[in-house]
Amino acid sequence: TPGIRPLVAGNWKMNGTGASLNELRMIGNGFLGGLDAETEALVCVPATLLTRASEILSRTPVKAGGQDCHVRESGAFTGCISAEMLKDAGASHVIVGHSECRADRGEEDAEVCAKASAAWRAGLTAIICIGESNEQRQRGQALDVLSQQIAGSVPNTATPANAIVAYEPIWAIGTGLTPTAADVAEAHAHIRARLTEKLGPVAAKMRILYGGSVKPSNAVELLGVENVDGALVGGASLKAADFLGIAEAYQ
Ligand code: PEP
Repeated sequence: TPGIRPLVAGNWKMNGTGASLNELRMIGNGFLGGLDAETEALVCVPATLLTRASEILSRTPVKAGGQDCHVRESGAFTGCISAEMLKDAGASHVIVGHSECRADRGEEDAEVCAKASAAWRAGLTAIICIGESNEQRQRGQALDVLSQQIAGSVPNTATPANAIVAYEPIWAIGTGLTPTAADVAEAHAHIRARLTEKLGPVAAKMRILYGGSVKPSNAVELLGVENVDGALVGGASLKAADFLGIAEAYQ
């Protein structure tokens, strides 16, 4: 989209120990070594790696992020991690409302919305994920589902500086299946239109990422679609060569 700096964001999910930091080092060095400076890069690592990851990436243009946060700042929530803790550990961004969190933990739109606000309270940018299931797409409900998720998951105070929307059709995540370029164009245009209704003209500058089985071989096609302002990359972000290969779509 004209005037928007694209973002290539990785999501390591529940993958990675100290031994994986070498891949992260290679990702950081890859962006140092001359990938398009106009492209922003981020890797959302497991919280256990965040301190080490942000230290390694601090010498590179690549940022470190978290994958989820609690809505509260602190308290009796065993096993949970607040946005403030992610910020303290070196995160600049946090993913909220990933379909795996929505499905595995029964997270609903209102909670995702509260998590985005929690991210801002801590000074993080929220990457708000939305996307339809295969069943919803087959029934012709994909665009309606996106409308509902935007209405419920994106706070009214979202701005291009504090929020990024990621369109991730659930059936494309980790499956090797991808929508056609025409389907991606339709979904992203729909998302842009709903964001504009909700937020006004600033929505023209908000980044809308595509996510779901992005890899080097399909990145040029998917990331070249109108209203696609970058990618959220799961599996292919675990290998530096793949992640850098995707970012090269912008060269
Ligand atoms: C994701 O889970 O955010 C994702 C896009 O996964 P993958 O790239 O592995 O499909």
